[in-house]
Amino acid sequence: MNTDKEGAAPTLPSSQTPQTGKARLALHGGDPVRRTPWPTYDKGAVFVHPEDEEAALRAIRSHLYFRYDYRAQHDTECGRFEEDLCRYLGSRHALAVSSGTTAIALAIMAAGIPPGSLIACPGFTFVATPSAIVLAGCTPLLVEVDENLQMDLDDLRRRWTPGIKGILVVHMRGFAADVEALTRFAAEMGVPLFEDAVPAFGAELRGRKLGTFGLAGAFSTQSDKSLNCGEGGFLATDDSVLFARAVVLSGAYEGRFRRHFPDGDPPIATDLDLPLLSFRMDEIRAALLRAEMKRLPLRLERFRTNYAYVAQALADLPQIAIRRPVAPGAYLGEAFIFRVPGADAGWFARALCCEGVDARNLGSDRDTNVRVFWNWRFLFGDQDVEEIKALLPATTRHLREAVDVPLSSSLSTEDCDHLIRAVRKVAGALGTDYHAPDPLRPGTVRADPVRPDPVRSGPVGTAPAGQ
Ligand SMILES: *Cc1c(COP(=O)(O)O)cnc(C)c1O
Repeated sequence: MNTDKEGAAPTLPSSQTPQTGKARLALHGGDPVRRTPWPTYDKGAVFVHPEDEEAALRAIRSHLYFRYDYRAQHDTECGRFEEDLCRYLGSRHALAVSSGTTAIALAIMAAGIPPGSLIACPGFTFVATPSAIVLAGCTPLLVEVDENLQMDLDDLRRRWTPGIKGILVVHMRGFAADVEALTRFAAEMGVPLFEDAVPAFGAELRGRKLGTFGLAGAFSTQSDKSLNCGEGGFLATDDSVLFARAVVLSGAYEGRFRRHFPDGDPPIATDLDLPLLSFRMDEIRAALLRAEMKRLPLRLERFRTNYAYVAQALADLPQIAIRRPVAPGAYLGEAFIFRVPGADAGWFARALCCEGVDARNLGSDRDTNVRVFWNWRFLFGDQDVEEIKALLPATTRHLREAVDVPLSSSLSTEDCDHLIRAVRKVAGALGTDYHAPDPLRPGTVRADPVRPDPVRSGPVGTAPAGQ
């Protein structure tokens, strides 16, 4: 690989030269652990079966794309998908919508949170979380995360003000938040708890599905999530009034919300006392999702198996601190996150990229990562970035130390082995390697980008062995 951009490397004092016997880092011109692109959804590494494609084609050929046409609810793809979701999650109601972000916003709006209220959310989450709060007319109140990047309940207590009218907990990167403790706290404060379970569909905490702890749970079906129809999402709740209001807001006009209550009276009488926001899902995507639900358990199993394999193989590495779940197995397994305490995590991530594994240092200064609160300009105007970081000093510290590696469900055992070898190789060079100041421009993470080459998982039966 070309390491010209890293030019500083080989002119090292001899004491800092990598010892003989140690593999030379690809960052410094050594052989990379792998030369094929790291599989990710945006290079086409997705979990879609031919039967799923057929289901979408059937829906396309039906020419019935609108969920609220002449058919009864249980004859539509959206209606059936929602029935499947209720069964799977064990929740009373589910509503398919246009995205995870709109699902979160609908939950807040449908719960009747007055516009202008504060909603508490963690300082480490995808930018869609605070954005959804803004979309619902409210203001995010950011809370520190702990070293495992989970919302810190003690900090939430410290920051509490009567202006906070709801808590939005996030199961970020598929790791369960301590939602049991947060639910108790929300009850103590007399406010609802909402779950951004957007990246965690199918994951559980102590046998209970994430997204079913709070008043409502929001999920996404965007290409990078447990179910993938390109763009989309859904909301799950046991609260019939919240559900009915969300249905209306999402775009069930002229009494169509009644179709969602086939067995009884809907708990609201009219619809035009709420605005109509057109956050509906269409029949084509619902057909694709309904088909994907059948193989969801298999996909979840692959995520879990791969994650457990990688985490176990690297558990003994003293240089890294792997993100710990709040309870055994309380994660999806779609990302491998670790901290590199006391070392340069930006250097670590770049070295991994050069070895052929996509990795990002979450709190990098060179990379405007949207998961990092100090990049959320829409909340802070032209406030100085150092002042913004000082609002959540612990979160800032943890994010600066954190490295994030995506784990597609299509990873083979060989891919996992590459990741393990690459992390060991880079960790082994820590301390002996000279961490040259990096000349990369902002917005780039790879020193030597691996050219995207579309990879695509085949049908389940043909997937590489060992997944
Ligand atoms: C992906 C994601 C979202 C946004 O979902 P969309 O369907 O893209 O709107 C929100 N929150 C988290 C934590 C996410 O990972």
